[in-house]
Amino acid sequence: MDSAINKVLASGNFIKGTTLDKFEKEFAKFIGVKYCIGVASGTDALHLSLLALNIGKGDEVILPVNTFIATVYAILYTGAKPVFVDIKEQTYNIDVNAIENKLTKKTKVILPVHLYGQPAEMDKIINLSKKYNLAIIEDACQAHGAKYNGKLVGSIGDFASFSFYPAKNLGAYGDGGAITTNSAILAKRLQRLREYGAVNKYTYKEIGLNSRLDTLQAAILLVKLKHLNTWNKKRSALANYYTKKISQHLPFIKTPFINHDSTSAHHLYVIRTSRRNQLAKYLLSKNIQVGIHYPLPLHLQKSLYFLNYKKGSFPVAESVCSEILSLPLYPELTQSEQDYTINSIINFFKH
Ligand SMILES: *Cc1c(COP(=O)(O)O)cnc(C)c1O
Repeated sequence: MDSAINKVLASGNFIKGTTLDKFEKEFAKFIGVKYCIGVASGTDALHLSLLALNIGKGDEVILPVNTFIATVYAILYTGAKPVFVDIKEQTYNIDVNAIENKLTKKTKVILPVHLYGQPAEMDKIINLSKKYNLAIIEDACQAHGAKYNGKLVGSIGDFASFSFYPAKNLGAYGDGGAITTNSAILAKRLQRLREYGAVNKYTYKEIGLNSRLDTLQAAILLVKLKHLNTWNKKRSALANYYTKKISQHLPFIKTPFINHDSTSAHHLYVIRTSRRNQLAKYLLSKNIQVGIHYPLPLHLQKSLYFLNYKKGSFPVAESVCSEILSLPLYPELTQSEQDYTINSIINFFKH
């Protein structure tokens, strides 16, 4: 890592250049697509993908109501209207059977999120996209390396957005993101849009953003990409161990659903219990860093008041959000640390 960073420092090339080109090629190859465009963040990756499809005022975009706030903000930045769909209790992903009811003449895009690393049910989404001529943008920000029916996520929709936020499965030393696609035309447009809409220096064809993946981050990601598969396998083994122990000792706690058509990237390990708040407090007091992803479904966020959604609109997400808890999960986690967490949960329920 030191030598990769020092090479960039010595070159003095901090924006674009061969290191970024190389990362884009390697990441495209890893995902199994023709093109990768490095951008400044996962949020920008979503925003730029929508811009490349000319999505804006008057258009509607379908997305799940339980996701990170950036998914809906990216839609709002374009002026389009986000249309939420409830999630499936079993998978926490978008309820594909509830999408068709939400489609209107204005719907242009379905934006599924592969939440916690688990792929959304893409077959049904692809069928809808064909039937109604809709584009698909995958939010793969939590799912680097996840597979659906043998295909890596990020290679299924028209575009996919990845985030390299430090805590993601593939994380930079700061912010970063990428878009993957098989379309040469869209890739070319994205290369313009991430750089002010420039066709060449000081000639602008359209209004774009300043959103490039830093060369330094690309150098860092090139080193880490080589380890991604190994790290994901470790995540998977750790997740299996949690599930085995929890099913054994705490059968009333719901563990993550395993879809046999898919390979999860195991970004997060999320359990479900009605005593979530007390359990979270107890585990934090034992120095176990648990999290909640996410405590409030998006339609109830104050910043989105103008969308006029009411409490009760998405009953599954609302009940799930009050019961989910993410246990520590990262490749370097040890079995004794996992045992400490599991024993602490056992102790909590004993008392
Ligand atoms: C992290 C994340 C994003 C945003 O990525 P940033 O790089 O932080 O902008 C978008 N969607 C989901 C589901 C994410 O987890």
